[in-house]
Amino acid sequence: MNKFTTPDLPYAYDALEPYMDKATMEIHHDKHHAGYTTKLNAALENNSEYFDQTPEEILQNIDQIPEDIRTAVKNNAGGHVHHDIWWQTLRSGQDNNKPEGELLSAIESSFGSWDKFKEEFDAAAMTVFGAGWAWLVLDNGKLAITKTSNQDSPFSLGQFPLFGIDVWEHTYYLKYQNKRNEFVENYWNVINWEAINKRYIDNK
Ligand code: MN
Repeated sequence: MNKFTTPDLPYAYDALEPYMDKATMEIHHDKHHAGYTTKLNAALENNSEYFDQTPEEILQNIDQIPEDIRTAVKNNAGGHVHHDIWWQTLRSGQDNNKPEGELLSAIESSFGSWDKFKEEFDAAAMTVFGAGWAWLVLDNGKLAITKTSNQDSPFSLGQFPLFGIDVWEHTYYLKYQNKRNEFVENYWNVINWEAINKRYIDNK
């Protein structure tokens, strides 16, 4: 039985400057993400058979988790998994950052054009009320833009999240304060399309 661990950031804390600041990255990874992992482990302490599953599998079968710990597991497995995706699908800023190849074709045919996709994704990110995420998911093999509240997971809805934007205020408040729109606009510079393309090809 192995408890879950918080993976290290795959780059330096300041790698996403100036779009995401070092201080936020430190707090976000070392405190927020690590906090979810610690609380997930604590929630499962007396049901340790779940440590044999991946956190994604736990979220896919969240209804099977004993009721007394289900909310804690849902919130913290969600937080743990979503932040893992978050770090993996970011990279240092690049000009004119957009996907290529198979993923770009799929986006264009699903949403009409790259610009329309961006517009729809931005609108989703801006209209998450309170804390939550906007996602690009695979749903029965099709691309879709969705939103979830808090750490509710696309995995629990039978979807596979390719990437998502974390619009909890802890993601941007230090640098952008209440200006979520500026954070969302800058986010496009640091999306790791190579990693997302791979997630698409491996899971479509
Ligand atoms: Mn977060």
